[in-house]
Amino acid sequence: MSADRINLLRTKVFDKSKWMQLPRDVVIGHDVIEQIPTVCEDLALGDSVLIVSGDRTRDVAGKRVEALLSGSYEIATFAAGEDDPLETIRKAEEAVAEAGFVIGVGGGRVIDVAKIASYNTDRHFISIPTAASHDGIVSSRASVPTADGNVSLAAEPPIAVVADTAVIASAPHRLLASGCADIIANYTAIRDWELSHRLRGEPLSEYALTLSRMTAEILFKNADLIKPHSEESAWLVTKALVSSGVAMSIAGSSRPGSGGEHKFSHALEILAPGKGLHGEKCGIGAIITMYLHGGDWEGIRDSLKKIGAPTTPAGIGVDDETAVAALLAARTIRPERFTILDMGLTEESAQDLVKMLYRE
Ligand SMILES: [Zn+2]
Repeated sequence: MSADRINLLRTKVFDKSKWMQLPRDVVIGHDVIEQIPTVCEDLALGDSVLIVSGDRTRDVAGKRVEALLSGSYEIATFAAGEDDPLETIRKAEEAVAEAGFVIGVGGGRVIDVAKIASYNTDRHFISIPTAASHDGIVSSRASVPTADGNVSLAAEPPIAVVADTAVIASAPHRLLASGCADIIANYTAIRDWELSHRLRGEPLSEYALTLSRMTAEILFKNADLIKPHSEESAWLVTKALVSSGVAMSIAGSSRPGSGGEHKFSHALEILAPGKGLHGEKCGIGAIITMYLHGGDWEGIRDSLKKIGAPTTPAGIGVDDETAVAALLAARTIRPERFTILDMGLTEESAQDLVKMLYRE
């Protein structure tokens, strides 16, 4: 008798593998924008660069970057205007085709355009944020508004981040407070991740989860230190945004920093377009999702108050009915991402929660 048909028991081999893309150079601090030529030289990315910036951010920092690199690099510039984002990305890709690498100088929208265009054209990308408004300055995904709501697109994770605290501190405080709120929402994002792990068996990275929690904790504990136009505040928040982005790179998804509060924020973008900044909406959503998780929702609300971020829908010009509708619509956004808002929240409870938790 042949042994061919006998199934031998074999020891299971270790076949897990993972590819993490992390920034190589992270330079944060006072006047570090001056170090951009050294960073580019260190990374040896080629001799031609496309500098993407916005109308205002070009004056704030874009022109300075152009001046610092002129002479050593062939420079082309691209203005990421206010028009249709997908069209802007397409035009940016055309412009990138001529350049060896890309530098994005600006706020969240400009950085998103630069990193998506870099990803689609296979170019390295350097991130120079002019505001610390959300954790997209380091991550490998970008959320782009379209007529049907926001879509999450793949993007090039930055090979370097050059975050000048003097530039970031001069941006409107509302942007920094929004960045803080985005990080504080990590608390609820990781609770949703753990819930999905327990209920649905979704893989969980202990390392990414711990880093995400620790990042939120640092801002939570130091909420008193977050003051308008202070470079120390810009330093704290930027470091937190970088480490939150690293947590996402380790996880290979935005899971460590994006749960039900992000789905609520995306639902609000559809139901009340243009109201509130991304991080502001996530912070407001985190108050409710933390309550539903049975956690310290008052602590979240109080730290948001301290840093000067809104804590109610009214604070961003959204009425209670729309907030209720967004809580219920959250489950239709990225349904594969399971969160506490997918656990059967009824309209009645959503109304009660909004009334109870969003009092000034
Ligand atoms: Zn976010």
